[in-house]
Amino acid sequence: MKNIAIVLAGGVGNRMGLSMPKQFIPVAGKMVLEYSVAAFERHVRIDEIAIVSHYSYITEIENIIKRNTWNKIKKILPGGQERYHSSLAAIKAYADQEANLIFHDAARPLVSQRIISDVTTALCKYKAVDVALPSTDTLIEVNGDFIASIPDRSRFRRSQTPQAFHIETIQKAYNIAMRDPAFTATDDCGVIMKYLPGTPIYIVPGEEANMKLTYKEDIALIEAFLRRVL
Ligand code: C5P
Repeated sequence: MKNIAIVLAGGVGNRMGLSMPKQFIPVAGKMVLEYSVAAFERHVRIDEIAIVSHYSYITEIENIIKRNTWNKIKKILPGGQERYHSSLAAIKAYADQEANLIFHDAARPLVSQRIISDVTTALCKYKAVDVALPSTDTLIEVNGDFIASIPDRSRFRRSQTPQAFHIETIQKAYNIAMRDPAFTATDDCGVIMKYLPGTPIYIVPGEEANMKLTYKEDIALIEAFLRRVL
């Protein structure tokens, strides 16, 4: 089965107060997005890559592609307002293909070759795959400013990306979701969980380094992780 990496770079919001979306921030000489794309470009089991971008940054993405020696990028797709609109843009673009779609946040530049290998291996057996890490902090459920309950931490994981699917599975889940007027989603596995609840979602172990650039302080951390692997 063809493995297509979908690099989600369609966000324009900026919780860091910088003048550009986080995937374009330079760290150790390259943009965050360049590391994320390069990880999939390098992996032998990835056949093709599509980048989803906000329409106003498509020229920027074209320039990034020009200055890198990448061969696998076949599409730049315009994304949408919410992350799930960007996932949907990719699902629609590949609707006629038999493939696995491997969605990855452009803002996670340190996805390892091991994670990509494990995800693609898991896709041979499962229709939906997540990447997740145990939580070292205790999790609390809140009610306003107060603790409502403290769940057993060992049963919880922090979900990262890639999140990967057989295309017909994620397509089917979104088809049902789009008919739900109350639909909201922060990630694609959540769409499977809610709308195709009988589908097992296999979990591949994540890594601390596979963090998502979110706050200004994360830049120094990502830089430190990058210097270790470069
Ligand atoms: O905002 P958040 O941290 O959830 O974004 C995760 C990833 O999803 C980022 O790489 C961002 O560019 C992407 N995204 C997207 N389209 C959106 C919002 C976010 O592709 N509308």
